[in-house]
Amino acid sequence: MEATAKVVIIGAGIVGCSTAYHLGALGWTDVVVIDQGPLFETGGSSSHAPGLVFQTNPSKTMTELASYTVQRYGEASLDGQPCFHPVGGIEVAATPERWTDLKRKHGLARSWGVEAHLIDPAEVADRIPLVDPERILGGFWVPSDGIAKPVRACASMAGDAEARGVRFHGDTEVTGFRIAGGRVRAVETTRGVIAAETVLCCAGIWGPRIGRMAGVSIPVQPMAHQYAWTTPVARLAGATEEVTHPILRHQDRSMYFRQQGDSYGIGSYQHRAMPIGADEIRSRRDAGVMPSVLSFTEDDFKQPWQDAQDLLPALGETGIARGINGLFLFTSDGMPVLGESRAVRGFWVAEAVWITHAGGVGRAMAEWVATGKPSIDLREADLHRFEEFAHSPTYVRARSSQNFREVYDIIHPLQPMEEPRPLRVSPFHQRQRELNATFLEGSGWERPQWYGANAALTHGRHVPSRERWAARYWSPIVGAEHLATRERVAMFDMTPLKKAEVWGPGALGFLQHLSSNQLDKPIGSVTYTLLLDEHGGVRSDLTVARVGDARFQVGCNGPLDLDWMQRHAPRDGSVQVRDITAATCCVGLWGPQARSVLEQLTDDDVSHAGFGFFKARRIHVRELPVLALRLSYVGELGWELYTSADLGLRLWDLLWRAGRPHGVVAAGRGAFDSLRLEKGYRSWGKDMWAEHDPYEAGLEFAVRMDKGDFVGRAALERRGDAPGRRLTCLVLDDPAKVVMGKEPVFARTGGLRPPGTHRSDAADAAVGFVTSAAHGYSVGASIVYAWLPAELSEPGTRLEVEYFGERYPASTAADPLFDPRMERMRR
Ligand SMILES: Cc1cc2nc3c(=O)[nH]c(=O)nc-3n(C[C@H](O)[C@H](O)[C@H](O)COP(=O)(O)OP(=O)(O)OC[C@H]3O[C@@H](n4cnc5c(N)ncnc54)[C@H](O)[C@@H]3O)c2cc1C
Repeated sequence: MEATAKVVIIGAGIVGCSTAYHLGALGWTDVVVIDQGPLFETGGSSSHAPGLVFQTNPSKTMTELASYTVQRYGEASLDGQPCFHPVGGIEVAATPERWTDLKRKHGLARSWGVEAHLIDPAEVADRIPLVDPERILGGFWVPSDGIAKPVRACASMAGDAEARGVRFHGDTEVTGFRIAGGRVRAVETTRGVIAAETVLCCAGIWGPRIGRMAGVSIPVQPMAHQYAWTTPVARLAGATEEVTHPILRHQDRSMYFRQQGDSYGIGSYQHRAMPIGADEIRSRRDAGVMPSVLSFTEDDFKQPWQDAQDLLPALGETGIARGINGLFLFTSDGMPVLGESRAVRGFWVAEAVWITHAGGVGRAMAEWVATGKPSIDLREADLHRFEEFAHSPTYVRARSSQNFREVYDIIHPLQPMEEPRPLRVSPFHQRQRELNATFLEGSGWERPQWYGANAALTHGRHVPSRERWAARYWSPIVGAEHLATRERVAMFDMTPLKKAEVWGPGALGFLQHLSSNQLDKPIGSVTYTLLLDEHGGVRSDLTVARVGDARFQVGCNGPLDLDWMQRHAPRDGSVQVRDITAATCCVGLWGPQARSVLEQLTDDDVSHAGFGFFKARRIHVRELPVLALRLSYVGELGWELYTSADLGLRLWDLLWRAGRPHGVVAAGRGAFDSLRLEKGYRSWGKDMWAEHDPYEAGLEFAVRMDKGDFVGRAALERRGDAPGRRLTCLVLDDPAKVVMGKEPVFARTGGLRPPGTHRSDAADAAVGFVTSAAHGYSVGASIVYAWLPAELSEPGTRLEVEYFGERYPASTAADPLFDPRMERMRR
């Protein structure tokens, strides 16, 4: 075996082979792929996956990864045999709830550019003759879904890579790494040591163990999942092809099906979660043939087998020929784990990837390694997205087991995790409970969505009611809290906002280099700025307060910002970056009466003249040292008031008592979201991400091209004159309607179409998709932000937003809808 390689990939399963193929295609050919098993039926998960590819996913990223995968496998072949059977896919609804949800899914598919149709039971049975149409209400049909042949696809992509110079070694086990100076230097194997500057762990269920060898935590959970094959089905007798029936999902019973020649394959997630410790999984050497397969537990398959025969009565004449409990990976949030370790540079991870996404993930990993940025945004799948607690084995096991149980459930976008809760609470939690808060959860934090104590505020107020999906995790109190903020004053718990402290002699230069706005301003200045990547994409938006000559407090979006900063920090110790979130707490005190409340509690000058807009001051609120930032994400006069966590409860109580005469209310995230949307304030990750540049996102005001060089500047200079797409504000014609986000937007065709009816694919193609939406209680409008082609973003353009199969007429509007002259915040 060779002694050196530029890149070593561990694992010749579908992820390793796809990445090797794409690295080769990018001209990276000094690549070695190692597997402990024989090539390409290695004994990993890819060796026995039945290969169903359903592309549509609530995540745009996952859908795009899957769509590219379909294309990639579709192009591949081995010895004249295809690697993908484009038979289409159908998800059926057996309950009214599922049928409604399939309408939402139909919207999602078209938001992400996947052709999809809702079809009636007869058409489902027409396409899959074994289905009993009496059992279902309809189906969601995606013509381009199908069956992948994973082992064949591995061999085909490996063959192409080999032709370019990439080398593959089977029967070679990785046993350790040589790491020095924070970098991986070499890979130790049973057949020698290979020096390498880049190592990519694509070891599937063995990933956590490989990570541990390198000192890198990979928070994934191997789980067993049942799959069985029937004996031949009489109605399929004489079938000459492997598969002609579309693949089938029966999510109401957590099951899926595929034809396999003259029999059927059945997968079930109905059984109890069966997490397996990473150390319990044997190596290929110890296990023999299939270390990723455990024996079939028949009892767990009794009910699914019954359910299978109910939906596909023809299976009643068959038996179960064979079954397995196959192992593959789950994660705490259902997404893959991708990226380069910060602790061990050069050590990359591509784990918890399905066959469905492996084509796209392989391309993205290759691009990321070779060019520094994948062409599909991977923020939701980044290795560094996790908080520290989310690496604990107990958490990973509990959350992954939950995700296993819910894999086919109808999940509302606001649905909080069930366990472990409460995990993180702010110092105000006790008071929030006393105010009868309804808590949702984000990054482990208990976050009040609204407060039951504010119920009386709804009396006499017009708050449009909501129904069904939109009414979940919502209360009319949200509207009342919104209005109280605009009319009087409210206290928002901003503690969960990620905060970092950046300090040291190099701090200013470092932050200037990383961000797009001018930060070289006097102490006490606050600046809204963007973190761009080298390609000019918006990686994050930050609020940076200069609190000392060489000290900054940075309001971030999450762990990825900390990672980005720490990754880029000079190694000479001139800059320190520290997460201070847990040590601090914050109240957003906002509303026209905010000053009247604060001035009662402080001797510091909080007048407009004494404490200007976008300024930071250290003040005392009674005896409490507080860092006050005069800004507001809700578009009102006020401050973010930060103090240390131990003093938080006292801060809350002081503000509350002083605020009572002014009608202060505690307000939750529901009000916050609708207030910020009225004001047009973007939410990173939801409204824009690294795929978008600042001009498209309407954030050009945060870019100072004249300030000198910064990351992303050169790319912005190279960009064309006018953006091709824009994040655009829309208003629904009917203010009583509301949408939730991710819905497709269509050009106006005149006249509404009955839901569920087909029309030509071209007319059915969405022109954009919704990012955020909320009712604007002050402006009396239903607000939607959407990505649209620039030519459709001019104010007054007529469009339609599709919500559960219904088209809502809408018009684009000038942004923002509320207080565009910024008068309320600057007084
Ligand atoms: C029953 C079942 C059904 C499934 N059905 C589907 C489906 O229909 N559609 C879908 O999209 N997904 C499906 N999946 C999931 C899918 O199979 C996996 O997510 C996917 O195969 C993972 O690919 P991988 O390349 O990451 O891992 P693997 O295929 O497991 O590859 C990892 C490789 O790393 C090698 N390796 C590990 N440790 C070492 C070491 N120390 N040294 C050298 N080599 C090492 C292993 O030998 C292995 O070949 C299913 C999974 C199961 C179990």
